[in-house]
Amino acid sequence: MRWIDTHCHLDAPEFDADRDAVRAQARELGVDLCVLPAVQRADWPRVQALAALHGDAYALGIHPLYVPQAQDDDLLALDHALAQALGDSRLVAVGEIGLDFFVPELCAPEMRERQWHFYIAQLQLARKHGLPVILHVRRSADLLLKGLRQVKVMGGIAHAFNGSAQQAKQFVEQGFALGFGGAMTYERATALRALARTLPAHALVLETDSPDIPPHWLYQTAQARASGAPQGRNTPAELPRIAQGLADVRGQALAELQVQTTLNAIRVLPRLVRGLPLAALA
Ligand SMILES: [Zn+2]
Repeated sequence: MRWIDTHCHLDAPEFDADRDAVRAQARELGVDLCVLPAVQRADWPRVQALAALHGDAYALGIHPLYVPQAQDDDLLALDHALAQALGDSRLVAVGEIGLDFFVPELCAPEMRERQWHFYIAQLQLARKHGLPVILHVRRSADLLLKGLRQVKVMGGIAHAFNGSAQQAKQFVEQGFALGFGGAMTYERATALRALARTLPAHALVLETDSPDIPPHWLYQTAQARASGAPQGRNTPAELPRIAQGLADVRGQALAELQVQTTLNAIRVLPRLVRGLPLAALA
């Protein structure tokens, strides 16, 4: 079975020692395509080069956690980078962009304002270049939706979604799919699992968010970490097992979920289809 990991930070330093081996292992397990969202201007060329090297796809943007160090002219640079990359079929979205009101430093009034400025400006760039967006949603779903009503974009993915059913419905109405990954594999994540069970199949895409959000089988408790066990590193090779977890929660056949999530990913990131081996659609 072939898979798309719609959110994978393969450029992260956690993969510096063995990046090619990590990507090869995922491919052996059927992960044909990873979408690499960039988080800051300095990383754009690297993300582009990695996607080309591994036959993957990428998004260019400024992540909300990187807004404090971002400069105003990074937005101008993004405009230029997107214009230049439009001829590259591996470019599939503007991302990772969004709002984060979980991290305390990002919640100060001036930082909320600054995050909003970068979010709206990047939605405008997505609109200008006819691209979907990959959204980071953390305690920010309602404000993100407000931005999407102000600046109409073609849709995209609300990644690591963990909001309410009502918020999920509104994202879907705006042309978005919701990204499900490791967080949903925890028994105690009852609200998220209920959402994963009840959402219509056309609303779902799969992701690992590697190296973050380890699924439960990689997670080390604070106690284990205190006694020396490193936190498990998430990789795109976990995607098929995460998919099985989602299929189990939904009581759906894995093969059916594979086809549906692949078609969903192509629907919300239409440029993906150009980078996808045909075997992935079979
Ligand atoms: Zn991310």
